[in-house]
Amino acid sequence: MELTQNSQLPEASDIELNITRFEFTKENPFHASKIFLDAIDPIFISDLEDRVIDLNRAAEQVYGWTRSELIGGSMKILVVPDLDTKAEKLYDRCKRGERLEILEAIHITKSGDTFPVLLSFSLIMNERGEPTSIVTIVKGLSDLKRIHETLRAQIAALERSNKDLEQFAYVAAHDLREPLIGIAAYIKILERHMKHELDEKAHKLIARTIAVITRMDRLIQGLLWQSGLASETKHFEITDCNVVLEEALTSLKSIIEDNEALVKNELLPTVMANPALLIQLFQNLISNAIKFASDDPLVIRIGAQYGEHEWKFFVKDNGIGIEPPYFDRIFRIFKRIDSGADRPGTGIGLANCKKIVEYHEGRIWVESRPGNGSTFFFTIPHEIASEP
Ligand code: ADP
Repeated sequence: MELTQNSQLPEASDIELNITRFEFTKENPFHASKIFLDAIDPIFISDLEDRVIDLNRAAEQVYGWTRSELIGGSMKILVVPDLDTKAEKLYDRCKRGERLEILEAIHITKSGDTFPVLLSFSLIMNERGEPTSIVTIVKGLSDLKRIHETLRAQIAALERSNKDLEQFAYVAAHDLREPLIGIAAYIKILERHMKHELDEKAHKLIARTIAVITRMDRLIQGLLWQSGLASETKHFEITDCNVVLEEALTSLKSIIEDNEALVKNELLPTVMANPALLIQLFQNLISNAIKFASDDPLVIRIGAQYGEHEWKFFVKDNGIGIEPPYFDRIFRIFKRIDSGADRPGTGIGLANCKKIVEYHEGRIWVESRPGNGSTFFFTIPHEIASEP
């Protein structure tokens, strides 16, 4: 079907009155124009300078612009600003005669909503075989839009239920602590009252009970901290990671000395971050490196590498290492590997590290070989980070 452009285009003000400006065939212009106007898919016709010549009703409905608003303007208005150079390239390819079908793009409506589309472009020639205009058909939009909307609704529902769960965890943990503290207090009072009637075995049992309660309280506090952080409003500031590390090392000074650990650190960058949380992150990773040391003299290396999108920090030790099946598991709350009684813990440390890194929109992972030490990596994206 040949499409020819009328030599005389009406002014935008004529458009509402004179809607059939395109003749798809010379024989039956009305019929073809009707197909164009009534098509379910949005269709745009543009000139070789990418100016809109015409659009159909579906295009008006989907994009929210009226014909008079778009005609004469640039086709770029339909494309998300960051992606307009990509769109320009597509039009150039089409003008060179390349057939372009089913190309993915992100379009934007008058009200600023963005949505994925599939496009096909065709170059229209006049009788002399000269290119005159380009027809852009927006395909598969209804399906894509539906999927997009379903996904959006599902994400919103997930976010809501996540928030509810965090709130629930916070309240449950908060309320659980109270009776627990009460039990510990009553057991201590009981022990004091019956000091002379209890034998050594009973005192030992009471001490063990208190130890179990203390451990449970620590677990609950971890849960409280995790769910509290999730609902907190984010706070970032320019953060010198060398200062952050210094503070973490100062607070771990005595265990570093007791374990004769050697900490070697490179110059770290300055990033946009929450310094209090970063201190905690380094503290957790360094204290784990000490806790899970091997018999070799412990060396901990700390540094950061600049990447295209983010800073990649690392905390590397020469400790006992971790078996690959546990690489993901250890970041889950209360999950730990049984490494013997001399390495007690709650399984909260790395879950907290993950929460802190995710708070900064980064990622955390471990690389390790059993017996050959572990390296924990975490990233801080450049969008909230600056160079050292
Ligand atoms: P916890 O230290 O209380 O056990 P974490 O969440 O900090 O809890 O760590 C989870 C598990 O990951 C630990 O039980 C340990 O098995 C493993 N792990 C963490 N850090 C290291 C490390 N540097 N070297 C070897 N194993 C580690």
